[in-house]
Amino acid sequence: MALLQQLAPDPQILKRRDRIIRQLKRLVGRTAVISDEYGRRAFETDALTTYKCMPLAVVLPETTEEVSDILTYCNEHDIRVVARGAGTSVTGGALPQEDAIVLCVSRMNKVIETDYDSRTIRVQSGITNTAITNAVAKEGFFYAPDPSSQIACTLAGNIAMNSGGAHCLKYGVTTNNLLGVRMVLMSGEIIDIGGNYLDAPGYDFLGLLTGSEGQVGVITEATVRILKAAEGARPMLIGFSTVEDAGACVASIIASGILPVAIEFMDKPAIEVCEAHAHAGYPLDVEALLIIEVEGSGSEIEELQEKLKNIAKSHDPTVIKVSTDDEMSAAIWLGRKGAFGAMGRISDFYCMDGVIPVSRLSDVLTRVIEICKTYELRVANIFHAGDGNLHPLILFDANDPDEVDRAEQCGAEILKLCVEAGGCLTGEHGVGIEKRELMPVQFSDTDLAQQMRVKTLFDPKWLLNPGKVFPLDKWHLK
Ligand SMILES: Cc1cc2nc3c(=O)[nH]c(=O)nc-3n(C[C@H](O)[C@H](O)[C@H](O)COP(=O)(O)OP(=O)(O)OC[C@H]3O[C@@H](n4cnc5c(N)ncnc54)[C@H](O)[C@@H]3O)c2cc1C
Repeated sequence: MALLQQLAPDPQILKRRDRIIRQLKRLVGRTAVISDEYGRRAFETDALTTYKCMPLAVVLPETTEEVSDILTYCNEHDIRVVARGAGTSVTGGALPQEDAIVLCVSRMNKVIETDYDSRTIRVQSGITNTAITNAVAKEGFFYAPDPSSQIACTLAGNIAMNSGGAHCLKYGVTTNNLLGVRMVLMSGEIIDIGGNYLDAPGYDFLGLLTGSEGQVGVITEATVRILKAAEGARPMLIGFSTVEDAGACVASIIASGILPVAIEFMDKPAIEVCEAHAHAGYPLDVEALLIIEVEGSGSEIEELQEKLKNIAKSHDPTVIKVSTDDEMSAAIWLGRKGAFGAMGRISDFYCMDGVIPVSRLSDVLTRVIEICKTYELRVANIFHAGDGNLHPLILFDANDPDEVDRAEQCGAEILKLCVEAGGCLTGEHGVGIEKRELMPVQFSDTDLAQQMRVKTLFDPKWLLNPGKVFPLDKWHLK
């Protein structure tokens, strides 16, 4: 349970709780502040559910100005603040702290302006990822980054974590689709970064704050690109008798220069669980399965599928199945996108998120399975293979402290392996509390010191999202 360690709460803030709540209610109204125990409990954790902590209070602003008022007040009184979207972070990124208020943007969910000619949409940051696509789908457009949590997670969380998804192989992750952001600094000042055009002037602050995990300010509005949906899209399933063959096939596809929209990987334990849950039509007699989607006109899709089949054939596939209609395609994606929920039906799990060069997929996967055996833990692998973005799901019993410890140690070893293989600690889930102590594996002291200077520039008192991203001893220095 090492991850649960948090910064010591400030006893002065805890003593002043009633006064703080009264003042917050004055600022944003009674119905926008949750202070009772049962109400706060709904916010005590995120999707890293093993870890819980009750916040001081929860505030639900509806405008940028309200966010500014809240932060101005908190800054003046040294009150810590955890920004929150939907709380689907799997790294404890939105985990509260006892002496911190949770500032949740879920009521800031409006579309502000859609500009089809410029192919952009401006929204409040608490809008869900799916709602952005829903808002423009009638005109044949969509918002490309598609985390599997997209029906719940907010654009704010996506920006803060630089989220990806199955279809990001072709369209890029959040940072590649973000044009501008309105953000409130801890001082309460409101700044606009970027605009509704590519390549804004000045320093690339937009790049800097994408993936900044609630450490530098609270995002309240954003402009993102919307894309015209392709004429058609079809997934295909390719099964293999070994994990190594599937990994090698992915490496060959990427090396060939063909760019499918998505290449997703599942090993046998993942296939069995997802098929039992979604009845997606996955073959059960294979050790590894690739879901590969291509898009375009009917003839373009067929041509690409032929090329992919030819590449796959040199890696001994045992089954190749092409989706023949929309219903089958939807079932295939439902199975994949519901994978975490499906896994949750059979066990607690700890979802790792590391990146490796695609050429190393086969040997790293083999090693991941060996590491989990050493810790006597089961593992299911399901991930965005085309990006080399691994997601080993380590299965454990959250009621058994020894298993929790083993799962954490096993996860840490897997993430170190990713770095050793030439990859990195996080692909799309961020650092949160889960990986903060591993940051020195990836970054030198000088790198970390420089990143901390950036935080200090935006949040001089280090009040935003306490205890996340940087190792705890660095926070104690502040
Ligand atoms: C079932 C499931 C599937 C998932 N699949 C994917 C996937 O395919 N790809 C992927 O990338 N992730 C995935 N995730 C992880 C998660 O959904 C993403 O990280 C998502 O972007 C978090 O959004 P959220 O609104 O829930 O943010 P939260 O969990 O509430 O917060 C996440 C981080 O953003 C910060 N934050 C929130 N709001 C603001 C704001 N207004 N300003 C500044 N910082 C803010 C928080 O402080 C925190 O650090 C999955 C999670 C689950 C549970």
